[in-house]
Amino acid sequence: MANIKAIRGMYDILPAQTPLWQFFEAHVKQMFAQYGYQEIRMPMVERTELFCRSIGEATDVVEKEMYTFADRNDESITLRPEGTASCVRAAEEHGLTYNQVQRLWYHGPMFRYERPQKGRQRQFHQFGAEVYGLDGPDVDAELIIMTARLWQQLGISDAVTLQLNTLGSSESRAAYRQDLVAFLEQHLEQLDADSQRRVTTNPLRVLDSKDPQTQALLNQAPDFYSYLDDDSRAHFERLKALLDKAGVAYEINPRLVRGLDYYCKTVFEWVTDRLGAQGTVCGGGRYDGLVAQLGGKPTPGVGWAMGVERLILMLQEMDLVPAELAQRVDVYMVHMGDEAAAATMLLAEQLRDQLPGVRVLWHCGGGSFKNQMKKADKSGATVALIMGEDELQAGQVQVKPLRGQSEAQTVAVDEISAAVQMLI
Ligand code: ATP
Ligand code: MG
Repeated sequence: MANIKAIRGMYDILPAQTPLWQFFEAHVKQMFAQYGYQEIRMPMVERTELFCRSIGEATDVVEKEMYTFADRNDESITLRPEGTASCVRAAEEHGLTYNQVQRLWYHGPMFRYERPQKGRQRQFHQFGAEVYGLDGPDVDAELIIMTARLWQQLGISDAVTLQLNTLGSSESRAAYRQDLVAFLEQHLEQLDADSQRRVTTNPLRVLDSKDPQTQALLNQAPDFYSYLDDDSRAHFERLKALLDKAGVAYEINPRLVRGLDYYCKTVFEWVTDRLGAQGTVCGGGRYDGLVAQLGGKPTPGVGWAMGVERLILMLQEMDLVPAELAQRVDVYMVHMGDEAAAATMLLAEQLRDQLPGVRVLWHCGGGSFKNQMKKADKSGATVALIMGEDELQAGQVQVKPLRGQSEAQTVAVDEISAAVQMLI
């Protein structure tokens, strides 16, 4: 056992870190509640086919990043690489989109077989939002505005920028794709290797290439916006107008295509320069064709997903972790002798009854008074409650502030809640 380690790219989140995760999660959950979104929980494993058919065979995710296994019955199953496909599957399976709008959110681990590096794991966590049954730009705006509110709450607004684009309808994209391929084929030798391969498999992804020479060439490529259909154009204009009204700034990025095949019309990413190469903290867009593509009645959809690890890293690197998160307990109970031990055990229960918000740690394992006080101090508690033989006999407790505020005092057992409440 001693030398069995976690799987490469999959990490334990240790007790020193979990308060920060809980802090972040609480903010996101509060945001969803504020906007009237409901939580949905899907399994972490799905039939492989679900992801192949939704994300697209020629995407990086399906081509090389999926954890795919045969189960004992020789069915091909995959650890989910993202949440949208599962969410659509679940919504359709349970009739959630039938004649109704759904505003949903989910949270949990995702799995992609990528090269692990800062901000890129093989098991990572996402919060995601998905809306079904609304085809207008109003809900696109809502989904973006809510993330802007979250950045504000977390204090990272100045460190993220919103990149916005439209991919138009599938017809306008098809017409553009044809002309783009013709252009790229004329300049094949100037493209980087990945892009050369993509000219046939997934030409729009070439627009996303990070290679400088490819990028330079793309300046002469046909301009997608001139292919845009009227409906998509109006949708995009209205979205921009709503974001303007809400005071959410954006940059139009005509090269933003996103890595998954199901998007149409709106696509966006929130990016930061604080994390090196892994700069996208949240990305999303509209996928009006996906529900039908998976066999459902045509239903518009739009959503986003955010990478929790990257946002946690940002909070740490920007020094935005609230100091109080390090404090685990408020009250530490010290006692000498078996009788006092039992009495403080009950006193701790009484405190938890009367002050449910207060965190009480009852010392276990015995030891000298000095030793227990050391542990009390190390625990980060604000106050120690001490009971020895004398206090036990007198029905009293010593209340000792540990953070240098005020003097120790002796208090009757039934006044202890009031005394604790004053100090924390
Ligand atoms: P990237 O371009 O960084 O690979 P992506 O386009 O593949 O991101 P999405 O599928 O849009 O990512 O997922 C949404 C978000 O989930 C990303 O913006 C990122 O914050 C996070 N994310 C994606 N893959 C990983 C990963 N391997 N490790 C950590 N976070 C990830
Ligand atoms: Mg990726």
